[in-house]
Amino acid sequence: MGIAKASRGLAKCLGTSLLNPSKASGPRNRFLWPNLSITITASSNRPEVKYRAPNYRSLHLPAFAPTPTSSNFAMSKTYTIPQVQTAAIIPEKGSSIVVKHDHPVKTQADLAPGECLVKLHCTGVCHTDLHAALGDWPLKANIPLIGGHEGVGDIVAIGSHTPNSPVKVGDRVGIKWLADSCLDCEQCRKGREQTCAHAKLSGFNVDGTFAQYAVSYVRHVTPIPEGFDSNEAASILCAGVTVYRALKYSQTNPGDWVVLPGAGGGLGHLAVQYAKYIGLRVIAIDTGEEKKKLCLKLGADVWIDFKESKDIVADINAATDGLGAHSAIVTAASSSGYQQAIEYLRPGGTLMAVGLPGEATLNASIFFTVFKSISILGSYVGNRQDAKEAVDIAARGGVKCHFILKQLDDLADVYEGLTKGTISGRVVLDMRSKN
Ligand SMILES: [Zn+2]
Ligand SMILES: [Zn+2]
Repeated sequence: MGIAKASRGLAKCLGTSLLNPSKASGPRNRFLWPNLSITITASSNRPEVKYRAPNYRSLHLPAFAPTPTSSNFAMSKTYTIPQVQTAAIIPEKGSSIVVKHDHPVKTQADLAPGECLVKLHCTGVCHTDLHAALGDWPLKANIPLIGGHEGVGDIVAIGSHTPNSPVKVGDRVGIKWLADSCLDCEQCRKGREQTCAHAKLSGFNVDGTFAQYAVSYVRHVTPIPEGFDSNEAASILCAGVTVYRALKYSQTNPGDWVVLPGAGGGLGHLAVQYAKYIGLRVIAIDTGEEKKKLCLKLGADVWIDFKESKDIVADINAATDGLGAHSAIVTAASSSGYQQAIEYLRPGGTLMAVGLPGEATLNASIFFTVFKSISILGSYVGNRQDAKEAVDIAARGGVKCHFILKQLDDLADVYEGLTKGTISGRVVLDMRSKN
């Protein structure tokens, strides 16, 4: 739809009396119409109606026209979509990554209704990507596969016949682990979109973000606020959302104590900041001078070095007036961190299980879980709203991700580093140099 047509549609919705003086009736409308202006800007793509009253400041009235959708509203931005692109592909389970420079890119005509093509600025690398490549989870990835689920980029095309798209061509969006869900099953309706039986998972059962272009879904991409750097936003889309949601559902109140094992790591350092943002007191557990400095700088109230501590449970009790912590957000890949949490949580405390180790089991004491009324809750990434909240907090400066920037061609080395545990913080792959 062109701008002129949009204006006509808007005029129809507003009623001809305001816009056409010959049809205006009554003194109010005659008074109003000369002061009315309609502006449609390419940046907002929404008609803005301004009314200038003589004795008042400019009033912004809501436009009653339906918001034009990308599929029916021509944008001033146009993108040239190449036929081939660079993409990092896992050809078979457990094999190393192959970076191909002639991987096909879907055209607008190839996109199904509801799909969008995102030209990526960058993508974060997550430990989950390694599980997908190695195939060591109870769930199996669709291989051959392009991994990656922390992508940020511009929407360059949207499938035809996409009704009421919440995003449009030119919008900068994030692609998270949960690429799409049906939004109409019991799980989706209850806000657990992640556990939808029809969930599509980026870089797992649909191709992800380790490529210049990724196909995603208009209903699930996360809008990235203007001014928030793409590289800063990338890791918020998985690591940030995951810890933010765990904290949000941890049944804590401002001032409560939360224990964060692995606080100096990729997820942990974001958890420290989100916890402080929502007013919790943080006990950071990790090891080494560098991580200690980072955690304390980020606002941790208590630091415990697990290699130096003789008794972590006693240390936590000592820090919390002998009562124990209100919650623990455990992201560890082994079971020991979970068992220990049952011991240091105060009665009524909540253990949030967040890590996704393929094999480990949780051997909690049933007696003490019951006797202390402990809640053990699993928290799995986040839904659209969790993602929006996590990104918005980071965009406002409440949380800052510490990352190192690498190139897509470095991905095989990054996987090796993740396997050996030699990578500290998050890794973000810059894709803009390729574009
Ligand atoms: Zn992830
Ligand atoms: Zn569903």
